[in-house]
Amino acid sequence: MTDWPIHARFDGPIVVIGYGSIGRGALPLIKRHIACDHSKITVIDPDDSHRDMLEREKVAFVHKPLTRDNYRDILTPLLTAGPVPGFIVNLSVDVSSVAMMDLCKDLGALYVDTVIEPWLGFYTDRHMPPEARSNYALRESLLDLRRRKPGGPTAVSCCGANPGMVSWLVKQALLNLATDCGEAVETPKTREGWARLMWKLGVKGVHVAERDTQRARTPKPRGIFVNTWSVEGFIAEGLQPAELGWGTHEKALPPEGRRHLAGCGSAIYLMRPGAGTRVRSWTPTAQSQLGFLVTHNESISIADYYTVRDDNKLIFRPTCHYAYHPCDDALLSLHELAGRQWRAQDDWMILDEHDILDGSDELGVLLYGHSRNAYWFGSQLSIQDTRRVAPFQNATGLQVTSAVLAGMVWALENPQAGIVEVDEIDFARCLQIQRPYLGPVVGVYTDWTPLSDRDGGLFPDSVDISDPWQFSNVIVRDSSV
Ligand code: NAD
Repeated sequence: MTDWPIHARFDGPIVVIGYGSIGRGALPLIKRHIACDHSKITVIDPDDSHRDMLEREKVAFVHKPLTRDNYRDILTPLLTAGPVPGFIVNLSVDVSSVAMMDLCKDLGALYVDTVIEPWLGFYTDRHMPPEARSNYALRESLLDLRRRKPGGPTAVSCCGANPGMVSWLVKQALLNLATDCGEAVETPKTREGWARLMWKLGVKGVHVAERDTQRARTPKPRGIFVNTWSVEGFIAEGLQPAELGWGTHEKALPPEGRRHLAGCGSAIYLMRPGAGTRVRSWTPTAQSQLGFLVTHNESISIADYYTVRDDNKLIFRPTCHYAYHPCDDALLSLHELAGRQWRAQDDWMILDEHDILDGSDELGVLLYGHSRNAYWFGSQLSIQDTRRVAPFQNATGLQVTSAVLAGMVWALENPQAGIVEVDEIDFARCLQIQRPYLGPVVGVYTDWTPLSDRDGGLFPDSVDISDPWQFSNVIVRDSSV
């Protein structure tokens, strides 16, 4: 495809923070789909190993880390260079999303990111209890800023693939499920309407179920963490406590489960790292598989968004969590990391589009517990399709960067929406923008449940047969696998 559509126009400066695997992939999509003055784009990164790419693209480069102390001084002149206030695209690690949004509010600038990132040191601070190092706590800090500074320029929070696109997939999956169940539904117009639709359809929960089969040309060397996206990001979230949105159908808190004392109350955390917490789940390629319950913002925001209350009484909430089977090299890397008592390897590598021989990233949502049992809906993007449609990224990256593009376009079309979560923005418009970059988008029903093939034949297995979809059946207890 050569006649790519222009989705929006922006005359102000664009500041991309972070030129890692996602930044390098996002920039060509921004230039392709947003009419803007390319000489007004600036990239900021303390690592200049890809400076040559920026020089070829004729994009300005600030070779510095943003810190608590310097970010206002560095960003203010860039964002106010005119003719209209700028747009921050935060694709970095270790740069606080909430601080960036606060600054954008002060300057009238637009903003998008793909996670609620804290400043450097947050994830590894041993003086902070697990609940304070959680994504729940990070999200509460975002909601707090929104309460303190409502409205104003649009800032789209967590607009990657997951968190991000998966929230839009949940909505489309609910509409598909409703149609397939013979329900005549109109697309809900409010949060309450969406929550009641999920409740009415009998959905008990949502797995963000992912299988990455991208295979490197060369085997993983010992002592190097290999992944298809940020290694620093993956290790950081893997060592946060495992977290999940906690549904109303669950009978009992897991033994290591803890509730938060403040905030929206939609999620719990486990007193164990996500990188050491496996769950049973299902994707079309893998079928039954074990994934990691790594904490993610969408587990908390989706559970919150789909909460139904009657006179303040909690009526319905889905369980929601990630079930991530990373690429095989990342799986080996995690095993190595656990063996080192979670002390990070000395070196790491992100597989780019040339390093990968074959495979795809299959990322979707598994809506379970309803009358059709379970429904997976998502993107099956191969490395070959990725290379065909976009430069400088692998399949995992393109699912993220196309969502960043969608979030930017939505922000430009809705510039005064204040701070928004992806669950709250126009899912159909965003998926429409992303669609050329997602490969096949498929919906598949399955009769699989977390109890499938668990007859305890070789070893005793303790299961709750009264409800296959209890989290106690989903989580892998060390004795059972
Ligand atoms: P990466 O590790 O490849 O790149 C991160 C970049 O940030 C690096 O180039 C690094 O030098 C830069 N950086 C570090 N400290 C900085 C500072 N103080 N100021 C400015 N830049 C700094 O990571 P990536 O794969 O490009 O991911 C980028 C971000 O996107 C991460 O936060 C990651 O967690 C997130 N992400 C989100 C999704 C999603 O689907 N929501 C998916 C992948 C990645």
